[in-house]
Amino acid sequence: MTSHDVVIVGGGHNGLVAAAYLARAGQRVLVLERGTSPGGAAVSYPAFDGVDVRLSRYSYLVSLLPEQIIDDLGLTVRLRRRRISSYTPVRRGDTATGLLVDNEDAERTAASFQRVTGSTRDFAAWQELAELTGRVAQRVFPTLTEPLPSREQLREAVGDDEAWRVVFEQPLGHTLQERFSDDTVRGVLATDGLIGTFADLNDTGLVQNRCWLYHVIGGGTGDWDVPVGGMGAVTGALVEAARSAGAQIRTEAEVVAIDPDGEVRYRHDDAEHVAHAGWVLANVAPSVLDDLIGEASVPPEGAQLKVNMVLRRLPKLADPEVDPRDAFSGTLHVNEDMAQLQAAFEATAQGRIPELPPCEIYCHSLTDDSILGPEERRAGMQTLTLFGLHMPARLFAADHEAAKAEALRATLRSLDSVLGEPIEGCLHTDAAGRPCLEAKTPLDLHAELGMPGGHIFHGDLQWPYAHGEHEPGSWGVATKYPRVLLCGAGSTRGGGVSGIGGHNAAMAVLAQSAGGQRAS
Ligand SMILES: Cc1cc2nc3c(=O)[nH]c(=O)nc-3n(C[C@H](O)[C@H](O)[C@H](O)COP(=O)(O)OP(=O)(O)OC[C@H]3O[C@@H](n4cnc5c(N)ncnc54)[C@H](O)[C@@H]3O)c2cc1C
Repeated sequence: MTSHDVVIVGGGHNGLVAAAYLARAGQRVLVLERGTSPGGAAVSYPAFDGVDVRLSRYSYLVSLLPEQIIDDLGLTVRLRRRRISSYTPVRRGDTATGLLVDNEDAERTAASFQRVTGSTRDFAAWQELAELTGRVAQRVFPTLTEPLPSREQLREAVGDDEAWRVVFEQPLGHTLQERFSDDTVRGVLATDGLIGTFADLNDTGLVQNRCWLYHVIGGGTGDWDVPVGGMGAVTGALVEAARSAGAQIRTEAEVVAIDPDGEVRYRHDDAEHVAHAGWVLANVAPSVLDDLIGEASVPPEGAQLKVNMVLRRLPKLADPEVDPRDAFSGTLHVNEDMAQLQAAFEATAQGRIPELPPCEIYCHSLTDDSILGPEERRAGMQTLTLFGLHMPARLFAADHEAAKAEALRATLRSLDSVLGEPIEGCLHTDAAGRPCLEAKTPLDLHAELGMPGGHIFHGDLQWPYAHGEHEPGSWGVATKYPRVLLCGAGSTRGGGVSGIGGHNAAMAVLAQSAGGQRAS
């Protein structure tokens, strides 16, 4: 039996952020992580036997990690901006073409809109919406690491009635219908509302708007950057910050029960241990916390297929005009017109895998080849990360392996539909001659990461203002037990690789320890 000021259940990146802040403030911190290494969904991994490539196995791009956390903790995290935001292959009549969005060349982007949509009207509307979300980003992002504002306070901070209506009140689908005439353009924007979020774009519950919000405000700009060295480099910096501040991180330590009075039971080295804590911070999802406390839990449902690949070379695209290096360095959208997204939602909600599932793909190694070993770099190999939308856990419930094989087949077919050659011919092979290709369903995430239902945000994303049991001025991390706080993606502003859930839980503990404002 050991005694600590704070025990953190789960060593995901948020748990590590909390550990670093608290240890630096002089608290005695123990992190208990059930996996063999910390990081949760923010890790790099050499997934293919005999292939020296450290893929960001789950999460891959960074937007929501505030500079403030990087500076406060002295993290050596390097992020690289992508010049190409996105490329979306389309067919217009018999011609294969595509919509290219170049962050540094508005004329080139305008010409691409002209080619694909027949005018630059949608480009003007695109720029207008980007300005609107940019204003929201500048006002809202800095509030995420402060105590929660009330809805009215946040609305005042946004200070723009039209922006408030568009982002916080009107279903994203309506906005896209209203402002854009081309369905491909609508779809490219719609995907920001559907990452890890299984929703109809016109849902009046607005879960898709909440997902959209977090995808367009990161860093006050909404840019999604490449972490140099892969996601494992971000976690590595956090481990270093937490350990050097004195936090103890114990891996292969699975928590099996939490007593809300501050007793945490865990298994380590084939024995059961007990850790006493003044505070218990739950980096695990809220429904996992319920299970550990012995309460009834309602697990969320995740809805994506992640596919990792190592290629001998990039494939050609069906559009002979586009350089694959341009197309793959940004986000390449595949069969993600708004109508295709809606149809996929309806099909998979009824348990059917679509003929051409919507997905998006990007090549990390074009922007940062430090994740390749020397031989792989010399041979010109590339990585591909594919994120398939609308693949809910329910599809895989009856026969996981068969449904996974079918989902992967359909997804590769979808990808092939925009390529000039089958992707299979470009895959590198591992030491046993197998293609370097792995897929992760929501059930895999549940089993490997303890993410309930495979939900990548531990549950639906929430508005960044006070609601429910969270009062204005609190940190949005409270549970009904005063000594138990959420410190992960499931806290009010916690989803994605942001560290915000960990930061806010640490601030709640420190505020209470200092006898200051409400704890959580
Ligand atoms: C496939 C995929 C792609 C994604 N892509 C992106 C992206 O590109 N950019 C982005 O910003 N976000 C992305 N996300 C979301 C993001 O990765 C997560 O929301 C975020 O990493 C969650 O971090 P966390 O620290 O809160 O929780 P987790 O990363 O879930 O960490 C929780 C930790 O708790 C541990 N644990 C669970 N149960 C126990 C137990 N009983 N005892 C002890 N330990 C336990 C787990 O092993 C894990 O290490 C993606 C997620 C996935 C899965």
